[in-house]
Amino acid sequence: MIIPCYNESETIYEFYRRMAGVAEKAGDYLFEFIFVNDGSRDDTALRLNELSERDLRVKVVHLARNMGHQIAITAGMDFAGGDMVVIIDADLQDPPEEIPRMLEKMEQGFDLVHAQRTRRDGESGFKLATAWLFYKLMRRLSTRDIVENCGDFRAFNEKVLKVVRKFRERHRFMRGIFAIIGFRQCIIQYDRDRRYAGSTNYPFHKMLSLAINAILSFSSSPIRFITWTSFTLWAVSLIYLVKALLDHFVFQVTVPGWTSIIILMTFYNGIILFSIGIIGSYVGRTFEQAQGRPLYWVGDTRNIDREGNE
Ligand code: UDP
Ligand code: MG
Repeated sequence: MIIPCYNESETIYEFYRRMAGVAEKAGDYLFEFIFVNDGSRDDTALRLNELSERDLRVKVVHLARNMGHQIAITAGMDFAGGDMVVIIDADLQDPPEEIPRMLEKMEQGFDLVHAQRTRRDGESGFKLATAWLFYKLMRRLSTRDIVENCGDFRAFNEKVLKVVRKFRERHRFMRGIFAIIGFRQCIIQYDRDRRYAGSTNYPFHKMLSLAINAILSFSSSPIRFITWTSFTLWAVSLIYLVKALLDHFVFQVTVPGWTSIIILMTFYNGIILFSIGIIGSYVGRTFEQAQGRPLYWVGDTRNIDREGNE
């Protein structure tokens, strides 16, 4: 069980209580809870340490600072062991009670179970609208299938874990990675609850950067877009060129031309700058990837004896 936590101090105990309940019911399995504290600034760290003293199944990885949800999940996967892994948010929006259903699917022979939310309680219209737009865009742009309305709540086995660990890209979008790896996958549906406490840790800029990561890492359509627009514009400008030549030599009209030149210039400059921006984004990631810095670094751990795969 991998649980990324960022400023979740109000939720931690309740999460633990419900999770422990589920673990007790699913008595055939040996559970371990790997909490990844993603540099929280509240009491999350203290409470996690306290839990780890009470219950040896609670393992804590304290990242040295906030590194983001997707990286926190990655760190969790590096420290995970066992036959099956479940990723679940700490805010109780993904009900832990669904986990036995997921494990059941795995017993039936699936390697990867996505939990798809059918209803989302307590989320703003804005969040729902942006999420809807995001999945629409993703499905159009990306060449591969991504399961709509699936967060990072999923279960998978050791085989999948081993493969996913090998994906070391810096700007990661775990949902995309899980969508392309293959294996036998299936989907279960559940109602998404409202947050137990606190408010979302995904403000607009984080959502936007997740969406940009998703598009740039899993699609080359922006580059194709550049090619096609430049082609179209080139064709249009050719026609214009012919017209200008005719005006000049055949019809002998003196063309003032000033306005059209200015319009064309601004138009093209706009397109060119935009295209450079897109190319720059890809070049930037190539640079960051080439630097080969670690994805995350760990400040402290509790109850963890095995080596991580950092
Ligand atoms: N989270 C994290 N690092 C961050 C932001 C969020 O580990 O920088 C965790 C957070 O504690 C929660 C999960 O990621 O368990 C999902 O975050 P949140 O509930 O804020 O996102 P939402 O459900 O609103 O998309
Ligand atoms: Mg949430």
